[in-house]
Amino acid sequence: MKKIAVIGAGTMGNGIAHTFAQKNYQVTLIDVSEQSLEKALSTISKNLDRMVSKEKISQSEKSQTLANIQTSTEINEDVLSDTDLVVEAATENLDIKLQIFENLDRLCADKTILASNTSSILISTIAGATRRADKVIGMHFMNPVPIMKLVEVIKSKETSGQVVSKIMELSKNLGKVPVEVNDAPGFVANRILMPMINEAIHTLNEDISSVEGIDTVMILGMSHPMGPLFLADFIGLDVCLSILNVLYEGFNDVKYKPCSLLEDLVKNGKLGVKSGEGFYDYSPGLKNKVVSKRFT
Ligand code: NAD
Repeated sequence: MKKIAVIGAGTMGNGIAHTFAQKNYQVTLIDVSEQSLEKALSTISKNLDRMVSKEKISQSEKSQTLANIQTSTEINEDVLSDTDLVVEAATENLDIKLQIFENLDRLCADKTILASNTSSILISTIAGATRRADKVIGMHFMNPVPIMKLVEVIKSKETSGQVVSKIMELSKNLGKVPVEVNDAPGFVANRILMPMINEAIHTLNEDISSVEGIDTVMILGMSHPMGPLFLADFIGLDVCLSILNVLYEGFNDVKYKPCSLLEDLVKNGKLGVKSGEGFYDYSPGLKNKVVSKRFT
């Protein structure tokens, strides 16, 4: 595999593009929003600067990584020809993903593997928009992608064994640790993580403790590297809400029903780090006392 397309240049897309480009894959990063693409390139550049200053990579590796990334606001044949793998990391919304996969199936060569970075939506449902279900797979990276080692590799009943092997191998080449999982709403990571985040939000909503209080209990009491409310901000509250809804509808179980406080925050545009406010305030100059130093 040499040529990779990444669809969606938000929180995850920029990290996925960065990770492939740093390993010298040729990456085309595609987003409907020019602004998202500009922000993504600036984020990648800043993250590479941090790596240079920590002497993890050289200045020339930084330049080469940036040179390996092209951007586009169009999903078309010109951009996708010769692409070996597409990793879709667009908004966590079923209709958006179905439309993207239908287009990809039409525009990509027969050999192209189509992966989704979805956090929760069944891979078999996404594959249903294509005529190549054997080449559709989940490649669920963790945030921030250049740092986090795990990739959940999700196979539907129709994903071919050969495609699973290729994606497992590719993930290892990226320096990641892939874990093969079967298709189910939320897979493994979010089926376990999201109920905890939702419970932390209920605990806050019932005024059992403050935001910092709840996060401190989980950091100091459970040795979590960051509290669940900061983690929710970091993931994106809209993403958390979408995942909980997929779990709630997928399992038809009230235990996954999103807390009304989460719904209200999203309705009011408070999406966490990416919008500047969620459970915490991310205005420039403000330093959060509870936030783990690990990712700052
Ligand atoms: P985000 O909101 O930060 O970014 C989504 C991007 O997709 C935006 O830039 C938007 O313009 C773009 N987009 C929307 N429709 C598009 C289309 N039709 N074509 C091209 N681009 C389009 O979202 P995110 O947090 O990066 O999440 C992306 C995916 O990754 C979701 O499926 C999410 O569940 C998954 N994911 C998120 C996290 C996380 O921590 N945020 C972790 C793992 C997986």
